[in-house]
Amino acid sequence: MSLFACSKCGCVENTALCHYWWEVCQEGKKPLCSECDPGIGLWHGAFEKAKPEACGYVQGPDGFLYVPDDKYLKRLLDIEAKKAKRKA
Ligand SMILES: [Zn+2]
Repeated sequence: MSLFACSKCGCVENTALCHYWWEVCQEGKKPLCSECDPGIGLWHGAFEKAKPEACGYVQGPDGFLYVPDDKYLKRLLDIEAKKAKRKA
């Protein structure tokens, strides 16, 4: 269950609480929270709507949100740095 920023309102959303996997991965649409998705149109209420910055999240190179000291995020950033080094 990954977190992302809604492409319309910018709030934090959980992939498990909206149509993320189908609409983004299958249909190539931009990620929307449950409230901005016209197919749902309601905030799920599982947690309060908030902007990533207010929660202390940063966006990783994969587009998902992480806390800055997340181990997986650090691995992703290491991989990106190695890729950039190879290109240079
Ligand atoms: Zn939204």
